[in-house]
Amino acid sequence: MTEAKRLTAPVPPGGTIGILGGGQLGRMLVLAAARLGLKAHVFSDKSDSPAFDVACAHTAASYTDRAALARFAAACDAATFEFENIPADTAAFVAERVALSPGARSLAMTQDRAVEKNFILSLGLQTPAFAEISTEADAGPAVSRIGTPAVMKTRRFGYDGKGQAKIDTADDAVEAFAGFHHAPSILEGFVDFAFEASVIAARARDGDFVVYDPPTNVHENHILRRSTVPSKLDAAQVSRARMIAHRIADGLDYVGVLAVELFVCRDGSLMVNEIAPRVHNSGHWTMDACLVSQFEQHIRAIAGWPLGSPERHADAVMENIIGEEAADWHKLSESCGALHLYGKKERKPGRKMGHITRLGPKTLPQI
Ligand code: AMP
Repeated sequence: MTEAKRLTAPVPPGGTIGILGGGQLGRMLVLAAARLGLKAHVFSDKSDSPAFDVACAHTAASYTDRAALARFAAACDAATFEFENIPADTAAFVAERVALSPGARSLAMTQDRAVEKNFILSLGLQTPAFAEISTEADAGPAVSRIGTPAVMKTRRFGYDGKGQAKIDTADDAVEAFAGFHHAPSILEGFVDFAFEASVIAARARDGDFVVYDPPTNVHENHILRRSTVPSKLDAAQVSRARMIAHRIADGLDYVGVLAVELFVCRDGSLMVNEIAPRVHNSGHWTMDACLVSQFEQHIRAIAGWPLGSPERHADAVMENIIGEEAADWHKLSESCGALHLYGKKERKPGRKMGHITRLGPKTLPQI
């Protein structure tokens, strides 16, 4: 077996960062790496990946193509991924050859909703009540235990509301489980939250930790519509959100940027909805409103550089541009906002095509 290239010193300018996944997150990571004088090599199984357009090198191959993965790892000084559904075998194979951050444990803990929720509980943090559904016979007892309304979610491979169904009766649960082709799932109590928020943080190899101001997030059809900073969280909730992210990052011995999605309950408590082991859509405003964006922060962490300042110099509202909305690019380009388009060739319903961030003078958070 090849000896893994260990990261004993920071990757210097001119070095190459490998990125598994070629979507918009990969594209923005590549651009951030370029700002630091680093090159990027993107690996994706889709030949029209948006990140390919901006990377110095790319590999279009299956995530199971070992020869291609070995060549990719040999060409990189440090590597990362931009989506958490990368097969565990692929991550392990790459990690045997080049320093991969976040590591295998972070990936394993966040790929499976049941494992992730048990981890959150083990840290003494709150998450919605849940029951595992592995066979059809589990559906009825899960509904009795959790109550209704509830949400059924596949344990793996869900995003933007995919692999989710609202449940009002035991029959709904049986039907939804069949609709998921009996994929292992969880039934989660429906949370009548006041609003949603998230916290985006970065942890370095030496444990150094920085956190951005948490935004308020609004979803439409399970897809993020808008993130706003400052958020509706009060000062105590902001401290608690930071503590939650810190505890999770330390618990995973995490390296890189991570996002924690939160439900802000009507009694003011914070529940962890999910952990994303990567840069996150609700942190895109950091590109225009902070000294160092979440993308640059991630590159710094995984390349062994010191973390940068997460300080915010403006208030910001980030709106996603979804599906056909991108046809209005000309009009959007005339408005007073920082426009980011991802270079995706086809507009499809629900597809994130870009985002626009509007800035205002920095105000103090509401107390
Ligand atoms: P997820 O993929 O789990 O982040 O879910 C996407 C969105 O669906 C969340 O941001 C919420 O708006 C909504 N959602 C998910 N789970 C629940 C729940 N247990 N109760 C209420 N809303 C939920």
